[in-house]
Amino acid sequence: MPDELPRLDDNARARGREQALIARRARAQIKADLADGRRTPADVIAARLDDPIVGRMKVRDFLHALPGVGDVRTDQIMAECAIADSRRMRGLGEHQERCLLRCVSGPSRPRGRLLVLSGPSGAGKSSVVSLLRERHPEIVFSVSVTTRRPRPGEVDGVHYHFIDETTFARMIEEGQLLEWAEFAGNRYGTPAAPVDDLLQAGRPVLLEIELQGARQVRLSAPEAVFVFLAPPSWETLVDRLEGRRTEAPEVIAQRLATAKVELAAEPEFDRTVVNDVVARAADEIAGLLGVGTSATS
Ligand code: 5GP
Repeated sequence: MPDELPRLDDNARARGREQALIARRARAQIKADLADGRRTPADVIAARLDDPIVGRMKVRDFLHALPGVGDVRTDQIMAECAIADSRRMRGLGEHQERCLLRCVSGPSRPRGRLLVLSGPSGAGKSSVVSLLRERHPEIVFSVSVTTRRPRPGEVDGVHYHFIDETTFARMIEEGQLLEWAEFAGNRYGTPAAPVDDLLQAGRPVLLEIELQGARQVRLSAPEAVFVFLAPPSWETLVDRLEGRRTEAPEVIAQRLATAKVELAAEPEFDRTVVNDVVARAADEIAGLLGVGTSATS
């Protein structure tokens, strides 16, 4: 029996060494992935509670693994986020995690551009947006929540998330909406978290919203580009709204009245794009989002 104890120790030590080696290799892999851009710092931070290798990694080592982050920047970030020197990734508090994310996402990956597209009902926003969707899959189109009922052909989760009044009210109360407004008897809103995550990940995001909502975004995200989509003329707008057979006459009348108010708001916007030809207007908007224009337009 006494003879066996050292052997058990040896086994345990060998196992320990093996595990340490595996962990070292996994850490090296994470570092290599970060260095060549296969994983973003945000991806690694997001994995800290599920992936034990990331969880056990010291925050200091994680920072060191980031391209362009040396000793000085590491010290700065640790101090700015009030993270103790020995802290491991799994032990980060909520504020520390957010701070870390902000610091590491800053210089290495610029935030994506946010474009707010507004304009009167009937200016052709949805036609321009459908063409942009088709031609520019790199643009992310925020999917709004609405209490309006789906029109024929509209798909839940693609055109809107169709929700009831109670759910909408709860989302407002819980601060889940970046902006929201009432329009022609229904409520519409932009869920904040997906937009923020996508911008954080460097993606261009487009919000197609009405005037009240655009004004709210102006207050919370003044860096966004605010684009007013104008119809070529008032007559075109009336024709388009009256030609829509999906709406009751009183709804059309209400939309025309709102359109007059919305047209007057054009000077509040950074840019006006006239929707004379859908493809041209779409290209102009793509250009403002910094994505390549289509060769087929
Ligand atoms: P529709 O019912 O025709 O789909 O949309 C009516 C109006 O609501 C349009 O002007 C559209 O741009 C706007 N809208 C759609 N989603 C949102 C949103 O999330 N927030 C705001 N404020 N307006 C929205």
